Amino acid sequence: MSFEALNLNELLVRALSAAGYTEPTSVQAEAIPPALAGRDLMVSSRTGSGKTASFMLPALMRVLAAREQAAAERKAAGVEAAPAPRPERGTERFGDRPSRGAPQQAKGPRVLVLAPTRELALQVAKAASDYGRFVPGLRVATVVGGVPYGAQLAALRGPLDILIATPGRLIDHLGSGKCRLDQIEMLVLDEADRMLDMGFIDDIRLIVDATPAKRQTVMYSATFSGNVGRLATDLLREPQRIEATSQTESHSDIEQRLHWADDFEHKNALLDHILTERDLDQAVVFTSTQRDADWLADRLHEMGHSVASLHGGMPQGRRNRVLQGLRSKHLRVLVATDVAARGIDVPTISHVINYGLPMKEEDYVHRIGRTGRAGRSGLAVTLAERRDSGMIHRIQRYTTQRMPVATIAGLEPKRAEPPKPFDRPVRPGGKSFGPRPAGKPFKPAGKTFSKAGPRPAR
Ligand code: AMP
Repeated sequence: MSFEALNLNELLVRALSAAGYTEPTSVQAEAIPPALAGRDLMVSSRTGSGKTASFMLPALMRVLAAREQAAAERKAAGVEAAPAPRPERGTERFGDRPSRGAPQQAKGPRVLVLAPTRELALQVAKAASDYGRFVPGLRVATVVGGVPYGAQLAALRGPLDILIATPGRLIDHLGSGKCRLDQIEMLVLDEADRMLDMGFIDDIRLIVDATPAKRQTVMYSATFSGNVGRLATDLLREPQRIEATSQTESHSDIEQRLHWADDFEHKNALLDHILTERDLDQAVVFTSTQRDADWLADRLHEMGHSVASLHGGMPQGRRNRVLQGLRSKHLRVLVATDVAARGIDVPTISHVINYGLPMKEEDYVHRIGRTGRAGRSGLAVTLAERRDSGMIHRIQRYTTQRMPVATIAGLEPKRAEPPKPFDRPVRPGGKSFGPRPAGKPFKPAGKTFSKAGPRPAR
């Protein structure tokens, strides 16, 4: 299938060819036609599958349609072409210079994308600029926390096509009356499950209430069970469900490996060895806490690696510089926490290394999705100590994939591998720890975090 077959405007197809894309990915082929038809959507699709374009291209089609309609109305009214409005500070202008006839836009954006983190929001904004590079005078603004208000306020005052925001900061602007959402035609909730995990449910509902009821709403989420499902029921009208890839099918281009470490020193020795592997282009090393990320980055720096840490405790400017360093390949190793690493889209990341295990099984899937992007293959290595065995089993059940155990010559573990759940003896009383019977939904055992409240700072 080609992009032309999806009935996309020639200006968008041109931008896609310039980006080197020859055909739509499966989520794009499945989601774009109903999105263009104005349907509400519930989409599950893994990161790295091209999901951003699957909503951004229909969003840009709306912008183009509005441009054409305004131009037609002007023509019908015989109005002389007016100069394009001056861009406001903080608004990014893309595309060819608008012709003298560029229409005056209505105030307030037509499209609103809500994303859980600053990084993801900036990533989505970049996609808007890439795919919309030939859309005349396209105006995209991002409203995210951790950056000064001034430029954002100026951007919100001016004419705007697409607004990409994290819920917290957008609520601030709504509360002060500085942002209007009454022109919204299309609302996108990207990584909705993540936004709910981060405690944004009330903010999302307030934001949605400020948009017109007749809008189109598309929701992207790894799962639509529980709170996410309830939110979908409340916000969407006769949605079409799209599951582009199942959890099991995903990551076929990512090789997973598990190394058992005897102790902390052994784990560090394994990491040091992996970081010197010749086929390692760039690596993201995940830690469980911000403090571990800083500590490990310092340690690796002392060992001579070009490395930096990335976590939510850092000011936005520094986070942006670190990501830029990764993209420009000045950095070879990034030590990151889960929240900060969302939205990192650097195709040259060849290795993801789990140095500290995630707190939730879903985070593992998001972590390893940082590699194997844009059609390349990647390696996801997990370093686990015995005490991590519960989480390892939960991850394997969640992904329904085994992490093959690997060893490194000279660094083999001295302790025996922890028993697999189905190797354990049957408990007195008859209940075994064995694999769950077919058809029974899996409920993760052990520590879980409440979905209601915000997660601990990581
Ligand atoms: P996403 O899942 O939106 O984060 O996209 C993952 C990566 O795939 C990004 O680097 C995109 O630039 C790239 N991408 C998106 N659509 C296509 C396509 N149709 N063909 C090739 N690469 C694509």
